[in-house]
Amino acid sequence: MRVTWTSEGDVWRLRLRLDPDEGVTGTVTDGQRVELATDTCHVRLPRSSSVHPDLLALAAWTVVAPWTRGRIVFDRPISTELAAALHSGWGVEAGPVGESPRSGTRLAISYSGGADSAAVAAILPDAPLLHFRRVSHPRVPNRWTHYRSDVLARLAEKTGRDVTPVESDLEFLLRYPRPGYPEHHAVMVGAVLLAGTMDLGGVALGYEIGSRWLGGGRYVHRYTPDNPMWSAHGPWGRLFAAAGLPIVLPVGGISEAMTMRLALGSELRDQVRWCLRGDGDGPCGRCGKCLYKELIQAAVERRPMRTTITADRPVARKWQQPPPYGGQEMIEYGCAHVPGIEDTPFARAAEYLRATPESTKWLERCYPPAVEEIPEAWRKGIESVMADDFGFMHAEDMKRVESWGR
Ligand SMILES: [Zn+2]
Repeated sequence: MRVTWTSEGDVWRLRLRLDPDEGVTGTVTDGQRVELATDTCHVRLPRSSSVHPDLLALAAWTVVAPWTRGRIVFDRPISTELAAALHSGWGVEAGPVGESPRSGTRLAISYSGGADSAAVAAILPDAPLLHFRRVSHPRVPNRWTHYRSDVLARLAEKTGRDVTPVESDLEFLLRYPRPGYPEHHAVMVGAVLLAGTMDLGGVALGYEIGSRWLGGGRYVHRYTPDNPMWSAHGPWGRLFAAAGLPIVLPVGGISEAMTMRLALGSELRDQVRWCLRGDGDGPCGRCGKCLYKELIQAAVERRPMRTTITADRPVARKWQQPPPYGGQEMIEYGCAHVPGIEDTPFARAAEYLRATPESTKWLERCYPPAVEEIPEAWRKGIESVMADDFGFMHAEDMKRVESWGR
């Protein structure tokens, strides 16, 4: 793999070139197969700025990692520290080498506007927000016009916080399965490229206990202390740290129900939006994400679900099948707490899972190792929010986490 960055004003353009033994089919760290659609993408920053070569290399790696085998050649020298992290994490020979490493002091938040990142923003009221905004690609047709990145960007601006929007078409590099981040870490491309000018020494994300510790999303659905995407000691955690920008997961110890409780109880409540399709008036109410999140919100608020989606709709199909489910801990929590669950699309799942308020109590407390993983500079403040708002898990609860999926 060879990558080249060129800049023109506030736009940075990345071009990649595959080696002869590399193909258009690649594999994301979580195991997902992906296919490459084209060989260039761009990132538009709020202003033109020079960027440390390690940051350019890190940003490029979040895009090209799935297709790289054995070797990557950057267009300017990187530090030996960054090259060592690429080698130990992926077995990749990276170079040329010859730059000094960088560092910074401030913590920024990668902010999508969903409940998880809004919870992080509520915990860190002074941290600047960086919002990734999808824009179309000049060479790849956009057949996903229902994805309203413009609405999400507007909501982020309305938070009244220090928000920096970063525009990019990098998601259109994926032909299969659909436009999206080549690696999940590409959402941080703006934070990475701006780390020098903003003096960033860490980037916080809204990954909660399901994504970090329970193998949630499209990953393995079992307890993963060594999660390769998000553990501090995993390949990505070490790579970001080598670039002076450790990954920080302030809500990594609590469940999605608790991040939602935090977000909806915060000043950001009116700007929280997990639906990618809704317009200025509100979420669409018809997509799978709306259905799943409504279950969680109803559970948090201990009320019946408000939805017009019925069990025979395609978006409700997976909940008619037996488990396991992605995000199953939240389906258990929802089924345990929503009055009248037997009249919802989750009736069958509730029968399979047999969850109760007692059996899901652990999902209201914080898993202590998640706090231990936070870099020391920011640990104390986050730890006290966890202690005051949720309390920490006891040995019994921790056993629930550590035997998840077995
Ligand atoms: Zn929706």
